[in-house]
Amino acid sequence: MGGTTLIHRAPAMKLSEFIIAAQEHQKRRDRFVLIVLASFMTALCALAWAARWYGAFLRAKFGAGAVTGLLGPLPLLVVAVGLIFWMRKWVQQLNRAYGLVCPACGKDLAMAHHVVIASKCCPHCGQRVIEEDAARA
Ligand SMILES: [Zn+2]
Repeated sequence: MGGTTLIHRAPAMKLSEFIIAAQEHQKRRDRFVLIVLASFMTALCALAWAARWYGAFLRAKFGAGAVTGLLGPLPLLVVAVGLIFWMRKWVQQLNRAYGLVCPACGKDLAMAHHVVIASKCCPHCGQRVIEEDAARA
């Protein structure tokens, strides 16, 4: 990750380009959230099915206390944390693919794209990130 130096290599986006990119980005993100929710529900069903076996395994290995203790919810926690990390990585990649990342500070512009469209500046560092479209001839 970058240090304190701010490098302006990427030229600012045009307003119309940014709006189109934000719309496309949102469509893909909505679809992605649906897929993630569906996979999470599937994972939950699989876990519920596995829980009977897992519970019996814990009882046999560590006694009845282990099932209600820390070890019981561990698989669910691992799945949830893994899913969150995966989602974050995917959204960051998506932001970069659509150019919805501040060229100055590298932070996400997609979440607050309404603010960016209105102010034409990055909500995180205040740098101007959008250019006005060229005057119509
Ligand atoms: Zn910024």
